[in-house]
Amino acid sequence: MPGYLPHDCPQMRTFIEDSRLPIGYTDRFREYWIELVAGHRALQVIEFCPWCGAELPRSLRDEYFDALEPLEVDIGTAVDELPAEYRDDTWWRRLESP
Ligand SMILES: [Zn+2]
Repeated sequence: MPGYLPHDCPQMRTFIEDSRLPIGYTDRFREYWIELVAGHRALQVIEFCPWCGAELPRSLRDEYFDALEPLEVDIGTAVDELPAEYRDDTWWRRLESP
């Protein structure tokens, strides 16, 4: 269940919060996505809100792995074994509000 959503129009939140629907949000990458093949985690990142048309914040996936690199974390490390701030949006939200 997401808490903070950088784009938070009522339709987007409703769809994200309903786990039966193939649209989601990954907070640590700041990515909104559509699941293309049910159950296979084939995800298409989306750049605009399908309901209100707003441009979504860009993905921070590259920055995420750049930030992890100096920590020498193995690429296959499970999310719940990463340093706490890299398990969710803590790492990039901290940078947004100095
Ligand atoms: Zn929207």
